[in-house]
Amino acid sequence: MTNQFTIPKPVNEPIKVYGPGSPEKASLQAKADELSSKVIDIPLVIGGEEVRTGNTAQCVMPHDHGHILANFHQAGEKEVEMAINASQEAWQSWSKKPLEERAEIYVKIANLLAGPWRDTINAATMLNMSKNVFQAEIDAACELIDFLRFNPWYAQELASHQPMYSPEPTKNSVELRPLEGFVFAVSPFNFTSIGGNLPSAPALMGNVALWKPASSAVYPAHFIMQLFKEAGLPDGVINFIPGRGSQVGPNVMNSPLLAGVHFTGSTAVFQGMWKHIGENIQNYKTYPRIVGETGGKDFCLAHESVNKDALVTAMVRGAFEYQGQKCSAMSRAYIPTTIWDDVKEKYLAEVDSIKMGDPKDFTNFMNAVIDRSAFESISEFIDFAKNADDAEILTGGGYDDSKGFFIEPTTILTDNPKFRTMCEEIFGPVLTIYLYDPDNWKETLKLVDSTSDYALTGCVMSEDKDAVEEAKIALTYSAGNFYINDKPTGAVVGQQPFGGSRASGTNDKAGSMFNLVRWVSQRTIKENFDPPTDYRYPFMDED
Ligand code: NAD
Repeated sequence: MTNQFTIPKPVNEPIKVYGPGSPEKASLQAKADELSSKVIDIPLVIGGEEVRTGNTAQCVMPHDHGHILANFHQAGEKEVEMAINASQEAWQSWSKKPLEERAEIYVKIANLLAGPWRDTINAATMLNMSKNVFQAEIDAACELIDFLRFNPWYAQELASHQPMYSPEPTKNSVELRPLEGFVFAVSPFNFTSIGGNLPSAPALMGNVALWKPASSAVYPAHFIMQLFKEAGLPDGVINFIPGRGSQVGPNVMNSPLLAGVHFTGSTAVFQGMWKHIGENIQNYKTYPRIVGETGGKDFCLAHESVNKDALVTAMVRGAFEYQGQKCSAMSRAYIPTTIWDDVKEKYLAEVDSIKMGDPKDFTNFMNAVIDRSAFESISEFIDFAKNADDAEILTGGGYDDSKGFFIEPTTILTDNPKFRTMCEEIFGPVLTIYLYDPDNWKETLKLVDSTSDYALTGCVMSEDKDAVEEAKIALTYSAGNFYINDKPTGAVVGQQPFGGSRASGTNDKAGSMFNLVRWVSQRTIKENFDPPTDYRYPFMDED
């Protein structure tokens, strides 16, 4: 029987506003109240079965760290083995399903998330990751829905790429085979959508996955697993194995069936994983595909001609939304000395107006950073700047972990372009500013390119078209996502495929055909309808 489903052309999921008095605001707040009024138990999910190990850790609210949302079970060596076995059993049928059948399930997941599951996943993201409603909506709802709707479309496009010629009497084709084994999906704490996409993108291509979410964001991930099940994703296709990265990771990567790694997180962890795989390379059945999107030190280069209001807004949103905990967050800004006084006045007033607190209070622009380890690491950077001779604190600098992990929006001004906070990823609400002489525009372009190991995102802000063009060329390799007159955050699926190079990752562009191509291994098929029956060629004939 042929499948009647055709993959619909996607459009981006509209962002809900959650304005005062709106029904969507009331419904989301009710869901957040409901979720935060109980403590749930989160099991592993292996082959569709709930597994409890008794080795538990807690999901808490970063803005009120004494408030426990859930206890989650952590995987050990035994559960990793169970998950690999379950994945291989599921692989037998899932890898053979036509793309249209798999895609049909993805569209169902997207529709459920856009509808009845939206509040749950958004509220879980707000509570466990301390995101304000807008940040939750653009991540947990819209971006994940987009991944689920756009990836099937891209997969279809990919499958349509066939050999150019089939001369008579032959027929040539290329088949996109799922990888032999399983894909290890390892997600970071900061985006629910990335968590959902890392296992589901390879699974769309017929693969099976083991998904290890970040320990500080297991709560929304648990609801995503429930959503996958409700939409009909077969058992064992995605196996959920939360746990400590340093324990779960090596156990998974020692398996000869490791066929790929789909990672997002820090550069150091990714490099450690790559090294582990390299050291075990002779043990694998196939060469594992290694895809990783990692850290950033994202820049803003303002030209003297910049629209100052636009610059200030880009700085505030780019650096401080979600407390700067975006790989794309603006964390170093280069501003001409000649315009600094004007920019500074507006910038200080804007930062001063920022409210910080519980995400359930919709008037808060900022919330808490994710956990104690992030709080300590960010505050250590701030203290370093406070004690340095070549830097001063312009805004913020305060931090308080008595109730939640709160860090003020902090701005450091330095006259040292290689100051530590101009080079290293902080992953918190800290922006460092360096003032440059506009006569040194060309040298500043070189400085921006050479200051950090990363090359994820960056923006140039300028009303001068020639300066923009010059920056675009000089900064060709400085960012995988380059913005002109816009903040360097907020990539949208289907509009700005996302990823960076250098120390920022393999740049396989999440939410694009170029990512999906990593999850298949092509088989070329030539069929000959009239095969030769004599080995001799005409050139061999006698004159
Ligand atoms: P992290 O590297 O600490 O953790 C990421 C994941 O790796 C977690 O699930 C963690 O448990 C796991 N892990 C840790 N050690 C492991 C090991 N030895 N083996 C296997 N897995 C292991 O990162 P994080 O703090 O969750 O996220 C922040 C980082 O992620 C930042 O550096 C940020 O720039 C980066 N990030 C990058 C992108 C991007 O698209 N480039 C997007 C989001 C976040």
